[in-house]
Amino acid sequence: MRVGVLALQGDFREHLFALEECGVNASIVRRPSELATVDALVLPGGESTAIANLARSFDMFEPLRARISAGMPVYGSCAGMILLADRVLDAAVGQETFGGLDITVRRNAFGRQVDSFETDLDFVGITNPPVRAVFIRAPWVESVGHSVEVLATIEHAVAVRQGGLLATSFHPELTGDNRIHRFFIESVARPALEKAAVK
Ligand code: GLN
Repeated sequence: MRVGVLALQGDFREHLFALEECGVNASIVRRPSELATVDALVLPGGESTAIANLARSFDMFEPLRARISAGMPVYGSCAGMILLADRVLDAAVGQETFGGLDITVRRNAFGRQVDSFETDLDFVGITNPPVRAVFIRAPWVESVGHSVEVLATIEHAVAVRQGGLLATSFHPELTGDNRIHRFFIESVARPALEKAAVK
């Protein structure tokens, strides 16, 4: 499996490193030709408005939207969660997302209370020890569609999954614990790609 990391802005290097540690073939993606070579993608944390605007400038917006709606597995962390969301509250004026995930996120939701914090999290399927989650001006998930599974909650959902799409409000790439990336590869992306292959 080739896994790309969208490298327009944000902490893409940390995701690349985490994926490499998981033993997959990982590469950065900045252009449509690079997107075409990957089976799955990570949307990193950073600034969702900047990433969306750069995607427009690099002629990546429509190709990304098309691949996601065609079923490419994607993991979005923080800003990446916002970019996957179908609906955004407290969005910047004119803010666009790639969409695909049937959730409503509230941007900078935790940021209005505390800019950043860390906590131990119960994550469905990943326990013992709990996941140490780093939140940085993070969104939360305000509501989910019926086909979305909530994997972790702090008052609101902070990790969700819908088919081949996974999103977390927090940044697992900053802790050196690769269990979320491994979960994405083995339990989200691989089954989604296998299911698509037999169709
Ligand atoms: N607040 C940022 C946004 O709206 C997300 C922050 C992050 O990715 N750490 O895009």
